[in-house]
Amino acid sequence: MAETQIKPRVRIAPSPTGDPHVGTAYIALFNYALAKQQGGQFILRIEDTDQARSTPESEQAIFDSLNWLGLHWDEGPDVGGPKGPYRQSERLDIYTDYAKQLVASGHAYWCTCSPERLSALREQQKEAKTSFGYDGHCRNRPAEEVQAEIEQGAPAVIRLKTPQDGETTFEDLLRGPINIGNKELDDQVLLKADGFPTYHLANVVDDHLMEITHILRGEEWISSTPKHILLYQAFGWEPPEYVHLPLLRNADKSKVSKRKNPVSLDFFKQAGYFPDALVNFLGLMAFTFEDETEIFSLEEFVQNFEPKRISLGGPVFDLQKLDWLNGIYFREKRSDDQVLVYLQEQLFSDDYLRAIVPLVKERINKSVEFVDYADFFFSDEIEFDATIMLLNGHSKKESGKLWDKLIGVLEAQTRLTTEGVESALKAFMAEKGLKPKQIYFPMRMMITGKKGSPPLFETMEVLGKERVRTRMRNGLKAFKQSKI
Ligand code: GLU
Repeated sequence: MAETQIKPRVRIAPSPTGDPHVGTAYIALFNYALAKQQGGQFILRIEDTDQARSTPESEQAIFDSLNWLGLHWDEGPDVGGPKGPYRQSERLDIYTDYAKQLVASGHAYWCTCSPERLSALREQQKEAKTSFGYDGHCRNRPAEEVQAEIEQGAPAVIRLKTPQDGETTFEDLLRGPINIGNKELDDQVLLKADGFPTYHLANVVDDHLMEITHILRGEEWISSTPKHILLYQAFGWEPPEYVHLPLLRNADKSKVSKRKNPVSLDFFKQAGYFPDALVNFLGLMAFTFEDETEIFSLEEFVQNFEPKRISLGGPVFDLQKLDWLNGIYFREKRSDDQVLVYLQEQLFSDDYLRAIVPLVKERINKSVEFVDYADFFFSDEIEFDATIMLLNGHSKKESGKLWDKLIGVLEAQTRLTTEGVESALKAFMAEKGLKPKQIYFPMRMMITGKKGSPPLFETMEVLGKERVRTRMRNGLKAFKQSKI
């Protein structure tokens, strides 16, 4: 009998919180390749059930940066599609219905345990050094009793009735079978007291309803997968295929993080990397061509991609290698005219120059002075004596910690604006008992390398958050390595 080939439907499901992460692009690339190679669909679903942390700006930044990389999706919140809506906050009724369906079929139950009871339980478990987890209190009570409490207004969640013995197993296409004893899994919450679903419920319901065939996601989700399998079983649904991709790592093998490396896609765009070079680099993170070709286009990656040949070794997100690769794109993939146009659009765009001119023209007499005075708007490495970062009255260690916190305050801003930076820094200084004199001069040096520069906050606004934070993180690294 001829086998009918099912066309893959794959998805990425980012949460729109913070800056667009390079890890999202990495996972998107592998999903995109699988879909495109086999004539399937690549879907973008926005998992925005964490209302406190999700923002429309962050969602837009995900759209913009994936489009910049050429990883266009076939279905998603902005382009629509047959299985929408593609934003979880617009699907809340669906999750409630499915959670209640599990209660009705006996696979889940209502639970009215108060936060106080749960934290007391946690304390007990901590003391007894037993594993954490819900003890099944409401599972073992008569449902009518719990129901009566709910009718009286008690807040309630829905929990899955996890089997109390046996094992849950799933097959990872790359890693083989993964088992976990059900005793290790507690009765996970599916629907929270505020009516919002948990990640597990929403993710499984959506993957099923959106007919996702393969889940390619980061290995940090492996521990969630058994919970998802139990949910598929409870619903009586067929789970998709799973591939857990290796995490991107810093040179010291720790999970890639913004403290050690720039991870925002905005950084790579602003710092002058070509989108096709970045895609190439991300492809190399977990895949080697059969002939070991290292330089390839997105189309070539798609043609050569085979999920079974994904490599699991911890890929090191090595910026020096990315620089090398990007250099090859300059030399071999762009004509002189293309480079000219790129520089005009990227580094010397009218918008960028228009923002710089008013900051500089007050201070120069001849055009050539512009170059000396404003060079840091166009360069990358800033040189300065990092020992000036030692804060009066603080040890080197304490100073480092304070700078780290200060950078964190700037990183928490969606965008750097003159007013926003000023008020955030004022609040920070007041909280930490620091004086403007102590921090503004070192900041100016870290960001511009110059003792005298255009006004600091305006300069930061024009340079943009990603370049500012990267320069400050580099400054902090230099300070920590300095001998004082
Ligand atoms: N919302 C999850 C994330 O932020 C989705 C993980 C998954 O792919 O299941 O990455």
